[in-house]
Amino acid sequence: MAVLVTGGAGYIGSHAVAALLERGEEIVVVDSLRQGHRKAVLGGKLYVGDLRDSAFMDTVFQENSIDAVIHFAANSLVGESMKVPGQYYHNNVYGTLCLLEKMNEYGVQKIVFSSTAATYGEPENVPIDEFDRTVPTNAYGETKLAMEKMMKWFDVAHGIKFISLRYFNAAGAHESGKIGEDHDPETHLIPIVLQAALGQRPHISVFGDDYATPDGTCIRDYIHVSDLADAHVLAVDRLRSGADSAVYNLGNGQGFSVKEVIGIARSVTGREIPMVIEARRAGDPAVLVASSERARKELGWNPHRNKLEDIIRSAWNWHSANPKGYNDKQ
Ligand code: NAD
Ligand code: UDP
Repeated sequence: MAVLVTGGAGYIGSHAVAALLERGEEIVVVDSLRQGHRKAVLGGKLYVGDLRDSAFMDTVFQENSIDAVIHFAANSLVGESMKVPGQYYHNNVYGTLCLLEKMNEYGVQKIVFSSTAATYGEPENVPIDEFDRTVPTNAYGETKLAMEKMMKWFDVAHGIKFISLRYFNAAGAHESGKIGEDHDPETHLIPIVLQAALGQRPHISVFGDDYATPDGTCIRDYIHVSDLADAHVLAVDRLRSGADSAVYNLGNGQGFSVKEVIGIARSVTGREIPMVIEARRAGDPAVLVASSERARKELGWNPHRNKLEDIIRSAWNWHSANPKGYNDKQ
């Protein structure tokens, strides 16, 4: 049986495909390549198309024996979602509806889902656990919460079991050096800081230094992308063993401010990395740090690439060896 990976040519999806290949899984990737890269898919069968295209998805389900889906395909930028929320509802919410309907039609009853810390909004407690309230502060997080709720009702009505993984901030690159982060435009903090280190940007803009945090900049929990990938493999195993639907946080449990990230990047790269303080970015909560106890206990997840310095070094290895990323877009 094959695992269908939607968005498998993207940053996190390609690392999950690599982890699935390492243990000999049969893989089918669906990706529009709007953000993803053909070269990022290290194995399996790649279908280029959109999951909202019904005839295209019929071909994918008819040509393969799929027993589980890992669903990465989405728009995922906080700032952009505040400007064009309609695109987020269309691609994320309607896209997931299309996927769940196809799964139901073809009798596929297991889905692992890329959710996010943005479902929580401004947290009541730090670290955040899965029982804390979910009041998103941006349209992106709101669409991810809507997708989780949709999966709940497809479980109730059709028995499709889901594991929703709420990632905190993915960072780093695969240890092979073959795959890494390459978004266009890039908006994530660590790759932008490294682009500044490479001289591809004049400086890093810090979005706000007036938050209620020790140095005034936002605090996030950075988790290595390969540790995230491992959690997906464990989640597929758990669903295959007949487990019920569940939600898990995935983070390191340690928060770093934007200024701390820049400081560590300066020491890893040995470059100056100029910094300019700018206005806050709409939709950003001040602090997002995970409690991942539940994932450790129930999934047996053991993230071990936890030092931020090592995470940034793995990203730096990728960016310095591939300053133009995959270099496959016009
Ligand atoms: P990404 O943009 O690199 O990957 C998403 C992939 O999905 C891209 O390759 C894109 O081409 C594809 N895609 C999007 N819409 C599609 C559609 N309708 N049909 C077919 N393919 C489509 O993003 P990423 O950083 O790898 O994130 C993957 C998932 O993880 C997303 O769902 C995101 O919301 C979630 N997430 C990411 C982070 C993070 O720190 N990067 C944190 C929390 C959650
Ligand atoms: N950030 C920043 N400058 C940038 C990009 C990001 O100051 O050029 C900040 C952003 O405001 C947030 C943190 O870095 O507080 C992490 O942002 P990112 O977009 O990487 O991830 P998010 O937490 O939004 O998923």
